[in-house]
Amino acid sequence: MTASGQPVRTCRAAILQQSSAPLVVDEITLPESLAPGQVLVRITLSGVCGAQINEIDAVKGPDRFLPHLLGHEGYGEVMDVGPLVRSVAPGQWVVLHWMPGAGVQADPAGYRWRGQRLNAGWVTTLSEFTVISENRCTPVTTSVPLEYLPLLGCAATTAAGVIGRDAQVRLGESVVVLGTGGVGLLTVEAARASGAHPIIGVDRVAERLSAADAMGATATVLTSAAPPATEATEGRIRTALGGAPPDVVIETTGAREMIELACRLVAHGGRTVLVGVPRHDEPASVDTLPLHFDTIWTGSKGGGTQPQHDIPRLLRLAEAGLFRLTGLPVTRFPLAEVNDAIELVRTGLPGRAVVDPWAG
Ligand SMILES: [Zn+2]
Repeated sequence: MTASGQPVRTCRAAILQQSSAPLVVDEITLPESLAPGQVLVRITLSGVCGAQINEIDAVKGPDRFLPHLLGHEGYGEVMDVGPLVRSVAPGQWVVLHWMPGAGVQADPAGYRWRGQRLNAGWVTTLSEFTVISENRCTPVTTSVPLEYLPLLGCAATTAAGVIGRDAQVRLGESVVVLGTGGVGLLTVEAARASGAHPIIGVDRVAERLSAADAMGATATVLTSAAPPATEATEGRIRTALGGAPPDVVIETTGAREMIELACRLVAHGGRTVLVGVPRHDEPASVDTLPLHFDTIWTGSKGGGTQPQHDIPRLLRLAEAGLFRLTGLPVTRFPLAEVNDAIELVRTGLPGRAVVDPWAG
């Protein structure tokens, strides 16, 4: 396996060794050769998504794959390809994504770390190099600044898919977005680009709401400290909407109280889309009566993204200024400071944290 003619045998990576513990940044050993459908990518930047925090916290239950690599949105250069790979070639720049796109679904790569097997999925991004499945990368050529390109792997495409596919937002519909972290802010922007009005951003962090204002929210609501979704919060949202219930509610936090609020808040005949993943041990409790009045509650799987179609479309919109991807605040961290990035995301860093594995 080579990069620019030089063999690549090891690289630095962030490793989840133990649930609810900091990641370990260390040298790992890459597979000796690429299997059919595998692609070697030199990572330029990787996003840090709520999904990685959920993995660290084991919100879906005990983690059977420890130790493992992680990260599922990135941008980089293809260095080498395995047999059967047809959709990308060495020298191409690619967005790395977790939803399957064009090409082969290869076996996940087998890495080694400290003499043991190190697990990885079809895509991981928090490392200098990565071996991924062909169908987890999509070639791009764009004038959009590169720090935004990892977001096409998850945050931006999820947001666009949630608004366009899952919620099917129509012109003039009112939209409430609960949680204005990275995905939430881009959901606000996707709602604006789709002609929704009004658009209400709701969060527990004031700085995130300022970013939501800049991204096109017509009003913002700061949630009460604890518990997050109190009656006061609900009242403020209703006031911001002039008393009418919203046509569409998008829930991005995964917090039980916010999921319950999302289902309670929506108009009869409206749509609630759950994007944030709930903790396995904190089930929501909701009154299902609205379901008898044509109300739809649904969960999103990555906005139903079809990367090979959606990534070029979104980049075209971004280049034309019609999807303001670059309005999102982006903060860079070196790989050695990945745990600081994760901690700041937890505490409410506005926008997106991206990790540069090559920064000192
Ligand atoms: Zn993600």
